[in-house]
Amino acid sequence: MSGINQWYERIDFSDDVSLIREKYVAKWLRCNIWHVRGREFDLLIDTGMGLRPLKAEIVQLTEKPVKVISTHCHFDHIGGAHEFDCRLGHKLEAEIHRNPTMENTATTGFVRAETFKALPYDGFIAEDYFVKPAPLTGYLDEGDVIDLGNRHFQVLHLPGHSPGSIALYEKRTRLLFSGDVIYDGQLYDTVYHSDKVIYRESLNRLKTLNVGTIHAGHDASFDKQRMLELINDYLAGNKVIGDPAAWVQTQLSS
Ligand SMILES: [Zn+2]
Repeated sequence: MSGINQWYERIDFSDDVSLIREKYVAKWLRCNIWHVRGREFDLLIDTGMGLRPLKAEIVQLTEKPVKVISTHCHFDHIGGAHEFDCRLGHKLEAEIHRNPTMENTATTGFVRAETFKALPYDGFIAEDYFVKPAPLTGYLDEGDVIDLGNRHFQVLHLPGHSPGSIALYEKRTRLLFSGDVIYDGQLYDTVYHSDKVIYRESLNRLKTLNVGTIHAGHDASFDKQRMLELINDYLAGNKVIGDPAAWVQTQLSS
């Protein structure tokens, strides 16, 4: 199979938000890349696997400067970050952005030939995939506010899935960009640096948030009612990826 031109697809949402997806990466693996338009600059929340140039796509969508927000350091979220000049994330994961490895970006086991419906370019070999270093150019932490001029995103530090997981919350629109803290699927609390106890605290905290729509790191967007169901389900011991290798196998055969 040869390389493919239309690697990314875009879906527009209300509130000047667009979703960009890697069309040919398996649905259960690919991350949601969120483009949020603002008056002074735009945000790009996560950057996918970095298999094809992303910046070239974004410059077609906006003339504004773009700040990349890394919700956390896993390979499916930070692969395209190196193309951008401004890269913000939590300090606790700075070292991983600086020196990404198969292990510390949780790549091992997930990237295999079967996870692609088409090759990103001729000669692509899944086993050779790696994340390019993209050191953070600034840090974000609990309480910080990202001011786009006409809209303001509050940074929530919600560790557990990973130590430096952050979410962005906009009070006016009640939008939440949650990264992998919560998404409409089986949650993942067994990454090498996950902490299940702290994760529960983060999820309990989310339950109290006055949120309307959640744009997550994976899968479809959902409302607060669905968020509460997902969280309660997880807290009851369901909806969780136990052994990732076994889980990947199930996804591949389904
Ligand atoms: Zn993750």
